[in-house]
Amino acid sequence: SELKRVAILGSTGSIGRQTLDVIRQHPEDFQVEVLTAQNNCDLLIQQALEFQPNAVVITNEAKYQVVKDALIPHDIKVFAGPKALAQVVEMETIDVVLTALVGYSGLIPTVQAIRAGKQIALANKETLVVAGEIITQLAKENAVNIYPVDSEHSAIFQCLVGEWHNPIEKIILTASGGPFRGKDRQFLESVTKEQALKHPNWDMGAKITIDSASLMNKGLEVIEAKWLFGLDTDQIEVVVHPQSIIHSLIQFEDGSIKAQLGLPDMRIPIQFALSYPHRLKSDFERFDFLNYPNLTFEQPDLKTFRNLQLAFDALEKGGNAPCMLNAANEIAVEAFLKDQIGFLQMSELIENAMNRADFISHPSLEDYVASDEQVRTISKELIKQYV
Ligand code: NDP
Ligand code: MG
Repeated sequence: SELKRVAILGSTGSIGRQTLDVIRQHPEDFQVEVLTAQNNCDLLIQQALEFQPNAVVITNEAKYQVVKDALIPHDIKVFAGPKALAQVVEMETIDVVLTALVGYSGLIPTVQAIRAGKQIALANKETLVVAGEIITQLAKENAVNIYPVDSEHSAIFQCLVGEWHNPIEKIILTASGGPFRGKDRQFLESVTKEQALKHPNWDMGAKITIDSASLMNKGLEVIEAKWLFGLDTDQIEVVVHPQSIIHSLIQFEDGSIKAQLGLPDMRIPIQFALSYPHRLKSDFERFDFLNYPNLTFEQPDLKTFRNLQLAFDALEKGGNAPCMLNAANEIAVEAFLKDQIGFLQMSELIENAMNRADFISHPSLEDYVASDEQVRTISKELIKQYV
């Protein structure tokens, strides 16, 4: 197969590092063109020396000099600042952009990459939550495919291969339930960030780990799925499956259900997003049914984990509601991680911020940018009443 040239946005994060692990095992198939980090210049430099990309971006400008001094002698271009991120994705030598930034910061670079006709391997689900309609429309106009990296969406995508013309009746997204599965609101009242940061099955960045504990992650994934697969809200179901072996399922019109299974290892969906339509060999640990005599399923508890309900409501409402949900959630998670608000107050904050912000039924990209900013300001204002 052909050598694919990959730009990894957020290469120092959990997804970024696992992407480099996949590429390290397949030097014949992939070549690293761009690496980027926000603050972690030591790891960025180390990665660049190993993979010899054409260019790197460090978005925190204060770290520019250190990175430059280390990499210029090796003929690696160094850029700094968030604007550089949106520019570097346009480089002619890039075939695919893997977006592994956290949160809203992924939006503009992804828009730019699509406009430049780059294929997208999308880990940064918040991009589709904020502006799913615009992103999917832009991708269509520019003949760009968006390959899901998120394990649930990769599962659906893998089940869809060979079924492109068969209508989907519904999809079922599995959720681990996170560290607080089965707990009640009284328990959640006093949980700490240390407890929330301990995910039973996955080792991920802090933001998505908190989102997994609050079920907001599943809410964001419902919205992501709507745009990736062109579904209506009532075609998307969530089922809690604590073992995280079945990564998601599709039900077709004849009632048949297809599922994708495997041990929880993000390198499989990352690799498939990069290698599609081929499957490459891997030495990842294999799944053994005998180690999992029980695969179990339960209803998500939307009354206790209100974030998931809020996400369904935002999707139903449409317009900029999911964008508002995302912005308020980012501020809420940040505040929870700084011990400024409690676990349950995250939902409270999101709901209040969304009620105060301006609803726009048909937002433009500029409207989304403004709405994101408005909700952040409102949310920070609301947090003052807690601290
Ligand atoms: P991490 O926090 O581990 O990594 C984030 C990466 O983005 C780091 O390289 C970080 O740089 C960089 N970054 C963070 N903020 C900014 C910013 N404002 N501007 C520019 N760069 C920034 O996150 P994850 O890898 O866990 O998650 C990445 C995305 O993938 C998220 O959208 C998440 O929802 C999604 N995802 C993650 C999964 C996982 O298993 N981790 C599973 C499914 C989806 P630095 O290291 O310097 O801070
Ligand atoms: Mg997921």
